[in-house]
Amino acid sequence: MARHRKPTEQTPAAGLPRGSGRGPKPVKTCMACGRPFEWRRKWARCWEAVKYCSDRCRARGTPLPGSGREA
Ligand SMILES: [Zn+2]
Repeated sequence: MARHRKPTEQTPAAGLPRGSGRGPKPVKTCMACGRPFEWRRKWARCWEAVKYCSDRCRARGTPLPGSGREA
């Protein structure tokens, strides 16, 4: 019965520190447009699965045979 613990740590969305405190954001290369894109907060839970820089690129994507779609 320890409800003292917080499930997730929340940080203020506004006013992100600039080049101080946390390290650099991870960067990936979009598989659709081939451009590098930075980590975004909305990808915090699925960053490893992110392959495209935007929903548009994701919609286009790359024609992979037998690739399952994830909602
Ligand atoms: Zn892209």
